[in-house]
Amino acid sequence: MNSELTAYITLICTSSVLNLFLFFYVFFNRHKYTNIARMFLLYTAATTIYCLGAAFGMMATTLEQLKFWTTIQYVGMPFSPPLSLLFTMQFLGMKITKKRCIALLTIPFISMVMVATNDWHHLHYRVFEVDPVLGAPFIHLEIGRWYVVHGIFTFSCLFAGFILILAHWKETSKAYRPQLIALMCGQLVPMITAFVYLIGLTPAGVDPVPMVRWLATLFYLWAIGSSRLFTIMPIAKDEIFNSMNDGVMVLDDSNRLIEFNTACKKMFPPLNTAMYGTDLEQVWQGLSGTAISFKLDATEHYQEIEVPTGEDSQRIYQVRTTLLQNSKNNKGLLILFTDITEVKRLQGQLEQQAYYDELTQIYNRRAFFHKSEQDFAKAMKESSVYTVILMDIDYFKKVNDTYGHYVGDQLLIHVAKACQTQLQEGDIFARYGGEEFIFSLKGRSALEGEVLANHIRSCIEAHPFKWKEGEIPVTVSMGVAEVTHETGTTLYQLLNQADKALYSAKENGRNQVQVYVEHSLVRR
Ligand code: GH3
Ligand code: MG
Ligand code: MG
Repeated sequence: MNSELTAYITLICTSSVLNLFLFFYVFFNRHKYTNIARMFLLYTAATTIYCLGAAFGMMATTLEQLKFWTTIQYVGMPFSPPLSLLFTMQFLGMKITKKRCIALLTIPFISMVMVATNDWHHLHYRVFEVDPVLGAPFIHLEIGRWYVVHGIFTFSCLFAGFILILAHWKETSKAYRPQLIALMCGQLVPMITAFVYLIGLTPAGVDPVPMVRWLATLFYLWAIGSSRLFTIMPIAKDEIFNSMNDGVMVLDDSNRLIEFNTACKKMFPPLNTAMYGTDLEQVWQGLSGTAISFKLDATEHYQEIEVPTGEDSQRIYQVRTTLLQNSKNNKGLLILFTDITEVKRLQGQLEQQAYYDELTQIYNRRAFFHKSEQDFAKAMKESSVYTVILMDIDYFKKVNDTYGHYVGDQLLIHVAKACQTQLQEGDIFARYGGEEFIFSLKGRSALEGEVLANHIRSCIEAHPFKWKEGEIPVTVSMGVAEVTHETGTTLYQLLNQADKALYSAKENGRNQVQVYVEHSLVRR
């Protein structure tokens, strides 16, 4: 064995042993690492098989042995660059889908099969024989068509990995750069060696890549040991930026758009990178067709805006602005858009359910108290006039008994609608219970209340409820009560007075209005 061959074998064996060590080291520590270690293990396994195959190949003495060990090398070698690319992508926070894996591992798989079956088709190696001058284990090769495909693919994977790392260099903080250097060298060492080999600058008859693999392996071991590759990894900022559900826009100190994320693009589809450098006023006009309706000075913490999104629809966004200031004292602005359309819709629905009567769609009793208590308190404070009217449908039970509950319901709706048409601004009208309704009239006296009540009463009487089987006459009785500031009342006492007046109206024959007067009830 000449000294040159011994040197080759030593180098390849060093690569094999180091790779094997790296594989077992990562394998036994895998539970401590982030999940990218799994892809790295596959990559190291493939490289180890490649190096071991190359090492044993160097000891071959016959063509058959050379073919056998080359086949073994190809169980690992074609997979090593794409696995390295996948591992790099994972490291940089890119998505590894099954499809991507399959796409990247198809050619290596074919290469493996091609080499194993080369004797039948000679597509990978047109000629594969013992070097006629140097003898075994040196090989004389003439490449076949598939070898070209395999070569281009292998080189592209290594190159793509290298470019990806380079592209992430700027946005990776200094603390993580040693990791990137290690990864870059892991791509560069085989890439440069393979290139030099392809242009014929390496010793003939042997593949030089396994001889230099140990160098790449040392870089990986250094990265694992010193900069904790796998334990901590650079968080790909743009991945986070683009995976946020909130839309983000970044402005420079002159309010020009300099960045936006994927969610923002989804919220405002016309947004595009050509708008970078454009004043936000102009950008916003293009996006929403309106002027900016939120403040850009970052003093307002929460703002709500409505953005039209085409035919009759709009979305509601909560806008938050944050001042950005870098070390050079350049100020920028970060605008965060959170889509709250659904929240608002639910909020509206809950309010509707809480405050409105389901049947008549007018205020319910809770809403009546909530709203009229404020008016009542104000009237008491300002000693202004304030009146309530309590209304009850006459003989309503009969309607239910004669026509059924459903018709009764429709009659209630009919009465509610008739009352609503008589209201003035500031009046509160609600369903007080069953077939009783209530009016709160701020700024109106008992007399004015009585006029209104009589108007409503005669209006209802004049418009019987019509349904498919005919008309049902409807009349109502009403009790009116006004606040008396001299004696002082509560809203509940006032309602009690109106109830007394109503009771009196019923007693006196129904279809009439009674006004509560202290100690006596006046019928008009
Ligand atoms: P009065 O002239 O004395 O007020 O007679 P009335 O029959 O109207 O009196 P009463 O208060 O005894 O009857 C009210 C009826 O209203 C009893 C109840 O079944 C009916 N009612 C209450 N709420 C509803 C409702 O939501 N729908 C229907 N269809 N009926 C209701
Ligand atoms: Mg009644
Ligand atoms: Mg009643």
